Amino acid sequence: MASDAEAPKMIRRQFLRASALAPAVLAQPTRLFAAEYDLVIRGGRVLDAAERLDRVADVAIRDGRISAIRPNIAPSAAKEVLDATGKLVMPGLIDIHTHLADKLLPPATCLADGVTTLLDAGSRGSDNPDDLLAIAQSSPNRVRILLNIGHLGVLPEGELLDIENANVARTRQVIERNRQWIVGIKARLSRTVAGEHDLEAVRRARQVADPLKVPIMVHVGQSVSPLPEILALLRPGDIVTHLYSPPPHGILDDNGRVLPQVREARRRGILFDVGNGRSGHITWDVAERAMQQDFLPDTISSDMTAIGRTYQVFNLPNVMSKFMLLGMPVEQVIARVTANAARAIPEFKAYGSLRTGAVADVAVLDLKEGDFEFVDNADTKRTGHRKLFPYAVVVGGKRLQA
Ligand SMILES: [Zn+2]
Repeated sequence: MASDAEAPKMIRRQFLRASALAPAVLAQPTRLFAAEYDLVIRGGRVLDAAERLDRVADVAIRDGRISAIRPNIAPSAAKEVLDATGKLVMPGLIDIHTHLADKLLPPATCLADGVTTLLDAGSRGSDNPDDLLAIAQSSPNRVRILLNIGHLGVLPEGELLDIENANVARTRQVIERNRQWIVGIKARLSRTVAGEHDLEAVRRARQVADPLKVPIMVHVGQSVSPLPEILALLRPGDIVTHLYSPPPHGILDDNGRVLPQVREARRRGILFDVGNGRSGHITWDVAERAMQQDFLPDTISSDMTAIGRTYQVFNLPNVMSKFMLLGMPVEQVIARVTANAARAIPEFKAYGSLRTGAVADVAVLDLKEGDFEFVDNADTKRTGHRKLFPYAVVVGGKRLQA
């Protein structure tokens, strides 16, 4: 470990905490005649909401883990130096709503955006998980899966219009067999997907999820049942995606006020996620009204698909930038794709932070000023004046070479 004698108080506390958690890191013998660090990311503004850290500093990585964060680490102490002067340095981004199974969106594409951890949210179900499992097992970044309660995953014609597509026993069995990759359940509840079976779909998802102690992510907006009836079936740790869906049956009442049952669900520990996507999932109007009433998202996700890369969504930093346009400070936006996203999925809790000893997943983004056009799902354009761009990414201590 580096000497932390000169490190400020806050940083020193992090060292002590990490020491308690990571004896294996400490037990390694001092390396003589070798660079102290494998990589040092120098001079950036380091933001880590989990550690309440926001300061200009250097991030040192050794053996795939965060080794030190402090100013003025000598370049000679590192095998490789990445100059991040003027850039934002943060934990690797976590996108909890993507669709990787169409093969046209390789996880490596998202890695280049800074996304070191992703969830495929329901592209596959219990009858066809194999191609997605293979993607997860072979990707350079961390890919985990929410299995669709519909047995064939997302179907363009609506996977739950025949509710018998939601097979509890079979879904549970496939999750149990692949528990290290499948971390929860997805249920899409829009009228065109589930028809009048939205509540029954959640009940069946519940029967799968509860014995396995995994979360359910429900896709809401334009459902047959009113949202409060859906929320009543959710438990703490479950996730509502597409929280800023336009009506019918979004989070606002007819007067544009956030429904009391929605606030109550949040108080109970239900999480609200963005899921930008391309149609029916977010409008400036709904997002702005809700945010003016302090109903901010817990997590910001892309709902990325191959088509999304060319239209509206583009990449996770682009989606993050939309929330800066809507008035959120950049550090709050970053918290929602790092610390908050890590807390949302139990299997991700070790990630989303740069604490000493953590796996060295780091995203470096460039916050540029100018005039940038952003589009919502109603095709309404707005111009923002700041935008985040991917600059560099490190996953498990390895820098992705451009
Ligand atoms: Zn989706």
